[in-house]
Amino acid sequence: MADEQSKDLAFQHILDAISDGVYVVGPDRTISFWSAGAERITGYSAAEMVGRSCDDDLLAHTDLTGRRLCDGGCPLQACIETGRDRSIREVFLRRKNGERLAVYVKTTMVEIDGERYGVEVFGELESVAGKELVARIQELSDSAVSDPLTGLFNRRYLDAALAQHFALYRRLGRRYGVIQMDIDTLKEINDGLGHETGDGAIRFVAGILADNVREMDVAARLGGDEFVVLCGLATDDDLEVYGRRLVSLVRDSRFAPAEEAGLRLTVSAGGTLVATEDGDERDALRRADAAMYAAKHNGRDEFLIGGSPGSRR
Ligand code: GH3
Ligand code: MG
Repeated sequence: MADEQSKDLAFQHILDAISDGVYVVGPDRTISFWSAGAERITGYSAAEMVGRSCDDDLLAHTDLTGRRLCDGGCPLQACIETGRDRSIREVFLRRKNGERLAVYVKTTMVEIDGERYGVEVFGELESVAGKELVARIQELSDSAVSDPLTGLFNRRYLDAALAQHFALYRRLGRRYGVIQMDIDTLKEINDGLGHETGDGAIRFVAGILADNVREMDVAARLGGDEFVVLCGLATDDDLEVYGRRLVSLVRDSRFAPAEEAGLRLTVSAGGTLVATEDGDERDALRRADAAMYAAKHNGRDEFLIGGSPGSRR
């Protein structure tokens, strides 16, 4: 008996060490095991899940078309009944915090003492998609995606990243912000100090962006003295803090050639969050652009948020 128990414990440790989620349901569809991986992915602890019926559908599994799998399409149920393994590439589940997540699901049936148990293994698809994307980007040469003057991403990469962010927003509800930025009165630096110093000013601002955007964010030069930052943020307040910080970092940094000539180097910027009304990825960019022009009209060296019909501004 003690042996059986220690075997059970050893198996649990093994299943907990797997980063995928694993859970087991009994013949009456009661959850009898919920692994550490399942806790991490869903946000639900074993204490919350063990003993519940998987019919409760806390995870609200749906397929690509939005159909609830619990309504007749449960792969785990089918697997328990037929004894045949199932594997589904794309299932959506709802995490405890409400986020939708794309996962792959594999189910299998095990028979213990004549009773049939269903085992489901599930893992995040995003990480798989992320790796594929990184591999694809590495296939492209650096010059195809980076801006030669600044080393930031170029417009081509930004367009691809915007399209990908918009697709993920549509499918998984993951929000993001777009900040557009333009150097103030660069012509004065060009005219007073020469085009090369103007180039230096563009590189200087690019360096501030490269050093201060978060690792997951995308900083790109659109061309001329215009930049865009694509950032994973969910609220206008966070966007405001982020945008203002970037603008003040430029204001508070010293671009020596301009300073020595008594010229200031500042930027104006506008930002917005992706919104449910957006028809495609360019709508947010248009709002950010309009907000940036409003900041220019307001006297420059400022960050403004551009409102969509559904947002608070
Ligand atoms: P504003 O505050 O309205 O933005 O004034 P601005 O002088 O910066 O004017 P605007 O942004 O409309 O135009 C950008 C100017 O920057 C136009 C051009 O002379 C200059 N410029 C564009 N690309 C480059 C570049 O690659 N190098 C340099 N040195 N200057 C550039
Ligand atoms: Mg400008």
